[in-house]
Amino acid sequence: MTTKIISKNLNLWYGEKQALKDISLDIPEKKITALIGPSGCGKSTFIRCLNRMNDLVTKIRIEGQVLYDDIDIYGKDVDVVELRKRIGMVFQKPNPFPMSIYDNIAYGPRIHGLKNVDKVVERSLLDAALWGEVCERLDQPALGLSGGQQQRLCIARTLAMKPDVILFDEPCSALDPISTGKIESLMETLKDNYTQVIVTHNMQQAARISDCTAFFLLGELIEVGKTKRIFEMPTIKSTEDYITGRFG
Ligand code: ADP
Ligand code: MG
Repeated sequence: MTTKIISKNLNLWYGEKQALKDISLDIPEKKITALIGPSGCGKSTFIRCLNRMNDLVTKIRIEGQVLYDDIDIYGKDVDVVELRKRIGMVFQKPNPFPMSIYDNIAYGPRIHGLKNVDKVVERSLLDAALWGEVCERLDQPALGLSGGQQQRLCIARTLAMKPDVILFDEPCSALDPISTGKIESLMETLKDNYTQVIVTHNMQQAARISDCTAFFLLGELIEVGKTKRIFEMPTIKSTEDYITGRFG
C-alpha cells in the first residue's frame, strides 16, 4: 500500500484550546479512510488540515507536519490554491453556487484558464453519476436540484478540478438513505482513481465503505487500522465502547 498523505505529530490549537494532540496517521493511496469519533473530537479540524482549509480560520496554531507526496504542505512556498485543486473537499451541507448546473462545474476550470469546458462538464457529471439526471437541464439553477443531487454536483465540481485526493466531511449527514446510498456507491467507483478520506458519525457507513478506519477521541487518535479489524477486533477499550454504541 502506497501512502498518499502523512500526518506527523500534528498539533493544533484554536487560541488556548488544543484541538489536535500529536496526530500521526498515514492515508493510503486510492483507498477510503474513515475518520470516526464522537462530536467535538477533532475530526473536522483534522481533515481540514489535510488541504489547509483551516488556514481560513483565524487564530489557529499548528505544530507538526502534513506531507502530501512527500511535500510539506505547510511549507513556505506551497501554493495553497494549487494544493486545494489537488486535494478537494466536499462538505456536510451541499453548497452549490447560485448559478446554473453547467456553470457550477465550469466555474473552476474557467478560472484556471480553460476555454472549452463542455467536455470537462460532461465528464465530471458522468463520473459523479449525475449526468443522466441533469443532461437535459444544464442551464437550470443548481439550487433547484434535490439535496442528494446537489451533493453529487458538488462532487462533480471537485472532480472538474482533476484532484488527486478528495476529502469528505460528513457528506451524507443532510441526506436521506437513498441519496446516501448513491454517494456511497459513487465513492466506491471513485476508488480506482482517487484517494478518499471521509469523516462520518455513521458507524455502518464507515464499516460499509472504508478500507481503513481511524478513531478519534478528545483530539487524540486512539486507534487506526483496517476497517474490518477495527470493527471486529478493536484493541483499545474506548474504541470498542464507541463502535458498540456505549457512548457517542
Ligand atoms: P468534530 O468534527 O469531531 O465534531 P471539530 O474538529 O469540529 O470536531 O472540533 C474539535 C474541537 O475544536 C471542539 O471542541 C470544537 O469546539 C473546537 N473548535 C472547532 N472549530 C473551532 C473554531 N473555529 N474555533 C474554536 N474552537 C473550535
Ligand atoms: Mg465535524
